[in-house]
Amino acid sequence: MDSMDRDRRMEDAFPPAESAERLLRVSYFDALTGAYNRTLFTSILEETVNRSRQRDEGFVLLDVDIDRFRMMNEAFGQHFGDAVLREVVARIARWLAPQEVQARIGSDEFAILLPRTTPGPALEWRLSCLLRELALPLPGDDTGLSLSVSIGIASFPNDGATASELLHHAGAALGRAKQQAQHRFVHYAPIEAERSRNRLLLESRLRRAIENGVFQVRFQPQVNLATGHLHGAEALARWTDTDLGVVSPDVFIRLAEETGLARDIDEQVLGTVVEHATRWQAMGIPPFPIGVNLSALHFTDDRLENLMAGLLDRHGLNPAWLMLELTETALLADAERTRTVMDSLCALGVRFSLDDFGTGYSSLSHLHQFPISEIKIDRSFVSRIPGSEPHLRIIRAVINLAHDLAKTVVAEGVESTDQIAVLNAMGCGTGQGYAFDHAIPVDGFEKRWLPRLPPQTVKGQHHAPSVVVI
Ligand code: C2E
Ligand code: CA
Ligand code: CA
Repeated sequence: MDSMDRDRRMEDAFPPAESAERLLRVSYFDALTGAYNRTLFTSILEETVNRSRQRDEGFVLLDVDIDRFRMMNEAFGQHFGDAVLREVVARIARWLAPQEVQARIGSDEFAILLPRTTPGPALEWRLSCLLRELALPLPGDDTGLSLSVSIGIASFPNDGATASELLHHAGAALGRAKQQAQHRFVHYAPIEAERSRNRLLLESRLRRAIENGVFQVRFQPQVNLATGHLHGAEALARWTDTDLGVVSPDVFIRLAEETGLARDIDEQVLGTVVEHATRWQAMGIPPFPIGVNLSALHFTDDRLENLMAGLLDRHGLNPAWLMLELTETALLADAERTRTVMDSLCALGVRFSLDDFGTGYSSLSHLHQFPISEIKIDRSFVSRIPGSEPHLRIIRAVINLAHDLAKTVVAEGVESTDQIAVLNAMGCGTGQGYAFDHAIPVDGFEKRWLPRLPPQTVKGQHHAPSVVVI
């Protein structure tokens, strides 16, 4: 039979449209459960890696495996096993949020992709809900079996830079989860030897980077949600190593905190910010708050206070240019000492902002205990609005309470016009996020954002830039 004959016979058996759909089904979907198969999942995963890299976003990959599946199959027959697989897919489907996908990638193994998700308490809570959901009795089953699964977790960008690396690492974490009796989900951690080798290499590079002062500082605008004018900015550290390439701040800041080097980085960032602010002040631009992130390590002695007093004095800088950002975890590491350091810095005229609010203890009582002028609502809340009613309620409550206490509120991670509208309607004064701009080099920030300062603030200044209202 030549190939034309064969094609004709195929067409007789399946009319073209139907055969195309069949082909699609067979190629991309799992016949038993209807879930995506490994081929389709891998291509979605590759796309997600590219998109997340462009958008500077993280995501999480889960590798889920049913415990004792082979035993169940042998004891109760293949029909039972098939029903279990279909039920698992249905339960995972109910648990997934829009944009999240699952696939069957092995006989009793499933992969789940959670875009725009990072490891942390929110993820752990969601996973415990999934485990609970999967453990519910199977419908119509009288075996009394309770299903359990093990989950391996790999996250982008920290646990891998490519789809295959992430799948491999989620699989390795799953292997470890299977060996443990209690922790049903396990995060990927490279094997210890490799881990400590990488860490040592990174640490020595980081030390050299600090010695040579090679960190760059980028500025991300904070925008008045009602007027579109520039309210302030956040300074964010960037590090590109000659051999390792761009290292994410989440990686190098965490390492710097663990090795006691974070203060040196923060001080370099602070120095750069003071330099630019002094220049802007000399141009006649009235002060706008520039957020500088501080690690908890600063609050052990007087080093920061001395540095700050020296910098302000030497440059004659108005302290209103500075808004020091710190998290609740940093506040509470040594509350008494922290309070003392904060008080003396406040006496110099600089202000404090409570960063990532909502991710830690989220205790509004901290607002009374510490001299805080501003609250930054964490991106994980902002990203859930306007869709999620509970998140809307929480954000509204935080805004109202903050206003009662005369604090300003900045919403972090604002990415859409819908979010801008909802936050503005709730009375949130300021937003920061990709809807406005990424963290950009200082020259771009000057060109694009200084002209958007509110008009009245630059009145009567000699060298004030022209004002464009957006
Ligand atoms: P952070 O203080 O919460 O900074 C905000 C992070 O969110 C930044 O990530 C920023 O680029 C990102 N971001 C801003 N808008 C959006 C948005 O609309 N969508 C999304 N998906 N992300 C957005 P980045 O620059 O990677 O910094 C990560 C963290 O590293 C910072 O989180 C901060 O905790 C730490 N960090 C950065 N620079 C410094 C520093 O100089 N000192 C210290 N101690 N920590 C720093
Ligand atoms: Ca911050
Ligand atoms: Ca933050």
